[in-house]
Amino acid sequence: MLEYMLCRPQDNVFFGTNLRTLVLDEAHLYTGVLAAEITLLQRRLLLRCGLGSSDVLQFATSATLGHPDDLIPFAAKLFSKEAADVRVIIGEQKKPDLPTTIDAPSPTVDDICSGRWPLKETDLFSTLGKTQLVHTLVDRLWEAKRVRLADLSAGLLPNASSEKAEEAIRVLLGLCASARADASDLPLLPNRIHFLFRGAQGFTVFFDTVKRRNSFAWGGWTVMPGHLERCPETERYGLSLARCSECGEVFFHAVLDKDKGTLTAAPPLPRDSEEDEERETPKEIFLAIPKETSDGQSCMEYVFDPTTGRRVGAGSGGVTLREVVRCWHCNADKRAFRAFVPSSSLVRNIAAETALAELPPKADADAAWLPARGRRLLAFSDSRSSAAKLGPSLASQHNLQIIRALIVKGSLDVASQKLVERLRKEAVDLENELQSETDATTREWLKQQIKKNEKELNQYTTGGSVAEWLETLKRSSLVPEVFDAEESGKHKCAEWSQREWEKHAGFIQEKVLPIRFMGELALRPRWPQTALETLGLVEVVYPGLEKLLCPDALVGFLPPMLGDFLKANWAAFVASILDSLRTDGAVTFGDDKLDRRYNDDKAYIALGKWFSLEDSYDPLLIALKGKDSKRHRRNSFL
Ligand SMILES: [Zn+2]
Ligand SMILES: [Zn+2]
Repeated sequence: MLEYMLCRPQDNVFFGTNLRTLVLDEAHLYTGVLAAEITLLQRRLLLRCGLGSSDVLQFATSATLGHPDDLIPFAAKLFSKEAADVRVIIGEQKKPDLPTTIDAPSPTVDDICSGRWPLKETDLFSTLGKTQLVHTLVDRLWEAKRVRLADLSAGLLPNASSEKAEEAIRVLLGLCASARADASDLPLLPNRIHFLFRGAQGFTVFFDTVKRRNSFAWGGWTVMPGHLERCPETERYGLSLARCSECGEVFFHAVLDKDKGTLTAAPPLPRDSEEDEERETPKEIFLAIPKETSDGQSCMEYVFDPTTGRRVGAGSGGVTLREVVRCWHCNADKRAFRAFVPSSSLVRNIAAETALAELPPKADADAAWLPARGRRLLAFSDSRSSAAKLGPSLASQHNLQIIRALIVKGSLDVASQKLVERLRKEAVDLENELQSETDATTREWLKQQIKKNEKELNQYTTGGSVAEWLETLKRSSLVPEVFDAEESGKHKCAEWSQREWEKHAGFIQEKVLPIRFMGELALRPRWPQTALETLGLVEVVYPGLEKLLCPDALVGFLPPMLGDFLKANWAAFVASILDSLRTDGAVTFGDDKLDRRYNDDKAYIALGKWFSLEDSYDPLLIALKGKDSKRHRRNSFL
């Protein structure tokens, strides 16, 4: 940047004899050619400013530079100075000074966590400084320098539960970082908490119902995040979970060692399956609980003993499992099975969004019309190439989450069977009353009640239409939290007001929300994409399909058993064909212009396509039938 500024006429103002100091941060980065370039750049800068090297105080700062003896020649070279003019300043750690009297009563864990301690009217610095717990905390940190929060809190508060103790120490560290004897002093205990996290590296299932740390119940067993051959708490053996990437069906993933007679949880690494095919032992296999309907596969059965991790004979009380070579739900090859490992960018974006939501909102009155109620989160990346993508990636994840939260919060509740029956009975009663009623105004009122009842019944049994739903969503207070990069470019910070905020809300309601909302539902997501539909939070249905009848000509053409089956399941069959057309993008918002706007920011045509039985014209017209029997899974039905 400096190089660039030296050449630009408009940056002339920066260069003159006023230059007093120059700071090179992260100085350990300057070695080899880069160091030579920086040295020459600094010389050019001084020349441009009309100054000599002795006129300017030059700093090089770093936390990771070599031995102090090497620093003087390094700095002299880097700054084109005499070695005698270089001073090395080494930072020294200083233990915080605390008051020597310890006479403040010790707070309870609950007092700290709830914010009841210390009392608002007392002086924070002296109250903390006179508490034994704070003195011990300072001592522990001084000895350890870096320590895991869990270890620190277990040592300081051994009698509290681990979660409570961590929470209390986290709050206490926050208090210590803000308590100062004087505004210009360092805080009582300068500290920083680093939260390191990554997405689960696979899941491990244990065949029992014992609750463990971070575990959840699944299929009658307990699942823990991560790849664990043995449970750290119960020492029992588990197996990894894998998922069919075509349909989402879940299987167990194990390493079979025939020599040792063991089955162990397989690591969630990309496998070289061909090499694996050849290998006899150890070998990775997929397993499932045998189903009665699993078409008489002649696959191997294994009985797994979770207490020893070994294969045992049938009837010895283990878990009976059957090897799986193809997905029994969609027939995909086992090569399509993947471990549960989310991408690191997804985890990062969700962490950022969660951290922002957890921050307290801005305390001022204007927070009501600021995005995220005035919360601010600084996000940065060490790598330049990922930094360039970080902003757009965070923004798009933010919008996705806001829109999905809107949809899920604003969706209609599925009514209980009892309520539906009550509404149906009411419909009959109202109809009977209307039949026998002669008074004109009462009849009118009854007719209105019948309409209202019908509408409610309809909503509770078949759901709402997209248009109705959109009207409900527009009223949500989350709407203005949607970010639109183009529109936001026009916002002026100095002129921001409640009116501007409402104008922005109106823009999102009318221009952004319809496309985003319909886009979320129109296209059917492919497995294993994370979307409202694949997660089971929303169901897209096709009203009226149940009234369609299977054509008799088709039934007559089929063997009787198949024909009857198709007749009974015709609506579901047509729905699955429609689902697959939605996956291919042969669906419209009902307006060419909206379709085009949705496609605008994509590198391909996502929706608004047409379909015909056999013809296709890339990319706007797709064929319902694939070119040959293997080309499309719809061919299995047609
Ligand atoms: Zn640094
Ligand atoms: Zn499958």
